[in-house]
Amino acid sequence: MTEKEIRLRFAPSPTGYLHIGSARTAFFNWLYAKKVGGKFILRIEDTDVERHREDTISIILDSMKWLGMDWDEGPDTGGNYGPYRQSERLDLYKKYAQKLLDEGKAYRCFCSQEQLKKNREEALKVNEFYKYDRKCLSLTQEEISRKIKSGEKFSIRLLVPREKILSFSDNVYGNFEVNSSNIEDYIILRSNGMPTYNFSVAIDDCLMKITHVIRGEDHLSNTPKQLLIYDALNFGHPDFTHLPMILASDGHKLSKRHGSISIESYREEGFLPEAVLNYIALLGWSYDEKTTIFSVKEMVEKFDLKSINKKASKFDYEKLLYLNGHYIRELKEDSLEEILINKLIKKNDNLKDKVNFLKEKLAKIIPITRERVKTISGYEKILVPFFNEINYSDDAKNYFTKKEINIKEILKSSVKSLENIDNNSFNTENIEKELRGIAAKLQLNLKIIAEVLRIAIWGEPVSPPLFETIEIIGKKATLYRLKNYLKSIA
Ligand code: GLU
Repeated sequence: MTEKEIRLRFAPSPTGYLHIGSARTAFFNWLYAKKVGGKFILRIEDTDVERHREDTISIILDSMKWLGMDWDEGPDTGGNYGPYRQSERLDLYKKYAQKLLDEGKAYRCFCSQEQLKKNREEALKVNEFYKYDRKCLSLTQEEISRKIKSGEKFSIRLLVPREKILSFSDNVYGNFEVNSSNIEDYIILRSNGMPTYNFSVAIDDCLMKITHVIRGEDHLSNTPKQLLIYDALNFGHPDFTHLPMILASDGHKLSKRHGSISIESYREEGFLPEAVLNYIALLGWSYDEKTTIFSVKEMVEKFDLKSINKKASKFDYEKLLYLNGHYIRELKEDSLEEILINKLIKKNDNLKDKVNFLKEKLAKIIPITRERVKTISGYEKILVPFFNEINYSDDAKNYFTKKEINIKEILKSSVKSLENIDNNSFNTENIEKELRGIAAKLQLNLKIIAEVLRIAIWGEPVSPPLFETIEIIGKKATLYRLKNYLKSIA
């Protein structure tokens, strides 16, 4: 490693799925690392024993891989600055806490949880801002040794210097100056040996030689606390970028009640990784006022920490859908074919032996359908009637009851005319010719004939282009559906 290597990290706490906001944090770190030729590091912050869920680590890693964010160092890939899971770095936190103790920059606190809670409640009663009263700072060495000997539990607190101006400059939010007197002697190591977030994150960022920290603005207020650790250990500060909050369309912080917020659910719902990445990049970053579509390559080129907005960004599902539709249309036909075949087989194992048949059909279906779909799951829905028998809903059965048309006559004539087409020439052109013929014979608008046929062969009043759809469904299935619908309304 050279002195100048730029190193960024994404440090998720595995407490659930990969939230869309965390994915954006990861992506901005990744983008910047790629842009400047730096390293992107994945670090798992799993020391919060109560909230930790081991199974979610693989979910987070899978989602990142699915999005195409690769990492240079991490728990699975290793690297020179490991381990990359905080739970495997406990000795390091102990070592640095001990160093701070030895240098008189930290002290042991034997106060019980109950006592601390009482003090806090009392302070708040008189509306006072609560800060630990440094009771244990005045313990003598003998008292400390006696307490340790008798097995009393203790945590370690940082001795925060008074009246020190902690300053840092954030790439998004500008310059900050915080007086250290407003910060209490916070706990760095709990009595169970676990570090607190502000301590472990600062130690790790230092030891892993992180040069740039990009994370959510909810951590802005933690930054001065971390600066105290850097200073106490004589480490330099990284460069800071805090990202604006993501709000739901109702103006509240985006949460589960607003619908899907995890990358896994978007994947499940049939979004393409390109679309999700393009979309999350726009949550807080813009290149100019007008461009919305960016390939990953373009984003790497154009991304810049200075062009991140301060304003909270609004989550806009419609925009995500729009982008997804765009990327579905952009997909090469054979890639789309492959995605759809896999989905169809996943749903119906019998289709495994019919890949060539599916390919042949999809080659005809894709050109007439890809314009109208916005997600792959939406696409799957469109494919169903091409490959499966129709179960008519009550709406479909009663569709024509109030309309003054002789539906049975139309259906019977359609069966007759389509039967006339030779198997080998059952194509769009001949189908159209026959249906126009019926319209003329019955003196009806072709639109009405088409409406009847749509309900009969598709089960709904809206379908992909009708003549093409009939050709793809094929003569046998089309005739079967027409007769079946006739029966269902009898
Ligand atoms: N584990 C922290 C989180 O998930 C990381 C914050 C940071 O990047 O410093 O919020």
